[in-house]
Parts: sequence; structure tokens; C-alpha cells
Amino acid sequence: MLTVDQLIDLELRIQEEIDHLQKDMDASAEEREAVSPDKSIGRLSRLDAMQMQEVAKDAQRRREERLQLLEAARDRMDEGEYGNCEVCHDAIPWPRLEAQPEATRCGKCAG
Ligand SMILES: [Zn+2]
Repeated sequence: MLTVDQLIDLELRIQEEIDHLQKDMDASAEEREAVSPDKSIGRLSRLDAMQMQEVAKDAQRRREERLQLLEAARDRMDEGEYGNCEVCHDAIPWPRLEAQPEATRCGKCAG
């Protein structure tokens, strides 16, 4: 069972990471517009730009996935369901939540 202090600690960290991710995603959206492919640049630099775009897209997708997990964790906190394993319904141990606040399974069920 988590203490109130532990819950507040995790909630702050989750909120902080959500804010951080959203800021990164806004910045990345501006970057992607900056290398739009219809700009008249040479063939090689166009390839470079496209590669960079792929990398940026990949990073963006990972950020979106992480954002979803964190938002889901925040929702579970609001509903008072946070910290229980979705499989066996046991409490997820604190060290695991501390390392991974968005965890939805205990160590046994995640493995
Ligand atoms: Zn479990």
C-alpha cells in the first residue's frame, strides 16, 4: 500500500514528465515544418532532411506512447485505482513504481 507522500511524489513526477513531453512535442512539430520536402534544396540534402524527418517521427511516436501511459497513470490516480497490478490486483511494490511510475503490472506479471 502506498503512503500519501509516495503518491504525491509520483503524481508530481508524472505531471512533470507529461509537461516536459508536451513541450518537446511542440518543439518537434516546429522542427518538422522547418524541413518540409517541397523546399528547393539539393537531392542529397533532401535525402538528409527526409532521414532526419524519419528519426524525428520515430521520436515523436515514442513520446506519444509514453505520454499516453503517463496520462493513463494520472487517470488511475484520479480514480483511486493507481498502484494495483492490472493482472493479479496485488499492490505494485514501491521500488517498481518509483522506477517506473506508469507501471500497470507488478514485477511477477510484467515478466
Ligand atoms: Zn501482478
